[in-house]
Amino acid sequence: MTHVYNQPSLFIDGEWIEGGDRELSAVVNPTDGSELARMPRATAADLDRALESSQKAYKLWRHVSAYDRAKILRKTAELIRERRDDIAVQMTLEQGKVNAEARMEVDAAADFFEWYAEEGRRAYGRIIPPRVKGARHIVLREPVGPVAAFSPWNFPAVAPARKIAAALAAGCTCIAKPSEETPNTALAIARALADAGLPAGVLNVVFGNAAMISETLIRSPIIKKVTFTGSTGIGRHIAHLAAEGVKKISLELGGHAPVIVFNDANPNAVALSVASKIRNAGQVCVSPTRFIVQEDRYKEFAATLSERIESIKVGNGLDENTQMGPVANDRRLQSMEDLVSDARAKGGKVAAGGKRIGNQGYHFSPTVLTDLPADARILSEEPFGPIATVTPFRHFDEAIAEANRLPFGLASYAFTSSVATATDVADSIESGMIGINSFAISMAETPFGGVKDSGYGSEGGPEGLDAYLTTKFIAQHP
Ligand code: NAD
Repeated sequence: MTHVYNQPSLFIDGEWIEGGDRELSAVVNPTDGSELARMPRATAADLDRALESSQKAYKLWRHVSAYDRAKILRKTAELIRERRDDIAVQMTLEQGKVNAEARMEVDAAADFFEWYAEEGRRAYGRIIPPRVKGARHIVLREPVGPVAAFSPWNFPAVAPARKIAAALAAGCTCIAKPSEETPNTALAIARALADAGLPAGVLNVVFGNAAMISETLIRSPIIKKVTFTGSTGIGRHIAHLAAEGVKKISLELGGHAPVIVFNDANPNAVALSVASKIRNAGQVCVSPTRFIVQEDRYKEFAATLSERIESIKVGNGLDENTQMGPVANDRRLQSMEDLVSDARAKGGKVAAGGKRIGNQGYHFSPTVLTDLPADARILSEEPFGPIATVTPFRHFDEAIAEANRLPFGLASYAFTSSVATATDVADSIESGMIGINSFAISMAETPFGGVKDSGYGSEGGPEGLDAYLTTKFIAQHP
């Protein structure tokens, strides 16, 4: 069956802009490297128009009641769910992930709109007992203003959805710049919002030169809040730009998640680990990568993990029996090859995979590396791809020291059947999220975010709404 990839556009002030005399750039299908479409790149004039419309719409949207905003966001969730299969095909074509995963991601994106529709109605302030009789000390929560939201290609639906849903629920307007590599998924979300009745300008979507767009938007006095998901390097640059304007900012950056497997871990830890590692071909900021396994279980765990990883069927994400799609672009493929050859050259063992598959598209075999020396790059650099490392440990403190060794602190995991060990792990690990006997750590209602070089601020949960609100104190005297 052939699938049609829609023509990508910009979405500015309620208008879908397909090209005109703008520069175009190619959108590539990672499964075979073919060009899917040419996407228009926003000009400086487009950005000015997006900024103006965002400011104009903010004056209106912030005064739409939370109750009425919720109706539009709930309807958006409904439309996204209705269109799930079509959106998921666009996603697999442009990003490569297995279609069943893409469908689940679209549902998760709808979930964010539904959840924030309700949470926006709970942006409660408070009344503080005054010091003077007859006075009122009132705290109000207000929308921060127009937002610039930068999201990456690995979760083309959920990454923009969790920013846009929370910002709009809070009463902010938003200019989204999703990844140029996966435009149509984000545009399908914008389409659902427009069809649900979102007024023009409340959401604008632009693509083009990422550096030019981020500088223009973040430097504009119209933008009051910046949110970025992506690499630590670019996140630092975005933070500098935002600091110049003293703007509120949330950063969700890279990770290099440790998984501590204790001697008393349930045997299903291996099956869960394989499923979680190959998800989205490992291109997940919370992907489990550094497996640190207690000595009694080390050999058996490394062998079973390798055996199961080796049997994973890699291919086109639209084929029903494919278990893992390609990596999303040639940069990731190159990184995988570099990390494996570095590990090999330093004496590490490739226990499974370790090579490119075929010469079309960007397929890489899921890989397990063992017997690594401490200076192997993979032990310190985030692979952001389908590579797992397995190293042994003896004592609790040794495992925690290894888990906390890196500057990242996004997600960590542990497998143990002891409640005492689970509690000690949760208290000792430096990371924003910890999964105990589970890799399921992202939901609309729970906070998602990191510490250290993995960024600051949370998305999801009430914390995710808070990120788009400011606090106003009113001292009212008789
Ligand atoms: P990259 O650093 O080139 O880009 C990361 C993201 O930032 C992309 O979405 C890109 O479009 C955007 N970007 C790049 N320059 C920008 C700029 N000046 N202003 C605004 N946005 C900009 O990396 P990449 O090759 O696309 O991805 C590889 C690395 O990025 C991975 O190793 C991983 O650490 C990180 N990453 C993290 C996440 C996450 O969920 N935290 C998602 C995607 C990528």
